Amino acid sequence: MPGFEIFGEEERKEVNEVLETGVLFRYGFGPTRKGRFKAMTFEKELAERLGSGYAHLCSSGTAALSIALASCGIGAGDEVVVPPFTFIATIEAVLNAGAIPVFSEIDATLCLDPEAIKNVLTSKTKAVLPVHMCGAMADIERIKELCSREGLILIEDVCQSLGGSFRGKALGTFGSMGCFSFDYVKTITCGEGGAVITDDRGLYMKADAYSDHGHDHIGDDRGLEDHPILGTNYRISELNAAVGIAQLGKLDYILETQRRHKNTIKDAISGIPGVNFRNLPDEQGDSATFLSFLLPDEGRARLAVKELGKAGVDGCFYWYDNKWHYIRQWDHLKKMVSSARLPLEMYEDYPDYESIELPVSNSIMGRLISMQIKLSWTEEELDERITKITGALKQSS
Ligand SMILES: *Cc1c(COP(=O)(O)O)cnc(C)c1O
Repeated sequence: MPGFEIFGEEERKEVNEVLETGVLFRYGFGPTRKGRFKAMTFEKELAERLGSGYAHLCSSGTAALSIALASCGIGAGDEVVVPPFTFIATIEAVLNAGAIPVFSEIDATLCLDPEAIKNVLTSKTKAVLPVHMCGAMADIERIKELCSREGLILIEDVCQSLGGSFRGKALGTFGSMGCFSFDYVKTITCGEGGAVITDDRGLYMKADAYSDHGHDHIGDDRGLEDHPILGTNYRISELNAAVGIAQLGKLDYILETQRRHKNTIKDAISGIPGVNFRNLPDEQGDSATFLSFLLPDEGRARLAVKELGKAGVDGCFYWYDNKWHYIRQWDHLKKMVSSARLPLEMYEDYPDYESIELPVSNSIMGRLISMQIKLSWTEEELDERITKITGALKQSS
């Protein structure tokens, strides 16, 4: 997830254009801004790139999720189906909407299992929020079918998988809304930033208003604008948006490089006994920020992680122990530790997150290792890396 690896002249030029006018705000300021609208430009380019009707830029991926939930009318008491393997931000956004996260099992795609979702649906289920994890797709077509059949809203968390696709269609365009992050470690970065995309003009208008205190953005005088809805402030600054424009221009280069590096490593380790790769519903659509593989059991996965560490292979993740990405280590969620009482505590039958059982997800996560794919590797570094990786994996197989 390495947009920051390739900052250059392009980012500086875009940012300087904003500094020259001094207009750091995305709306208004007429002639002073000399026709420079960085947020708006990024939105147009992103929508075009992803083949989506509309894009709205905001302050973070977490904000994007909150905007999508609010725009789709998801709030107090609604149940939202989520995966246990994600970044905690997905869960926070649901909780902050006043809604109830309901965990469902993942499968070997590392994302929500479409079959398993059926087991957690209740009369209160309003939406399904799959997360395209570690650069690649959930079984999104089947999840979409299920949502259509059951009358559920589909919102995609694509924060980790910008540039990924399923059968040529961009991730984020399958649901009512798709959410992206441009934080510092994502595929492209604004420093901080995020976006929602949608084909639905009504949803776009709501997202646009909600993320700026409900302003309808009609007319030149902010003080005289109408407020069709209540909102909040999830705006992005022009400085951040400017960085994003330059980064978006590098997306093709990023994807092409990642895919080449990933495939080289994948080919090199694919013959090693016991190494099985993550299930990709469409291999071509992998954005290739990570190479993820499963070992036969937890013991061997732990041994492999140890051997990879000893060999000096950096950027290896054993998510099962990771505090950020898997429910097993989310003690704050399990014990519901929050600075204020959470809205969902007002409902009698919200899930007891401490006693939730996810045996299938646990079994997958205990065996899973992901390797981060970097852009900056030279051919020699890649060769050296492969020697170390194959050595370590053979040690532990
Ligand atoms: C990074 C991330 C987010 C949140 O994005 P921020 O811009 O850091 O708020 C949400 N979901 C997933 C899966 C992420 O990886």
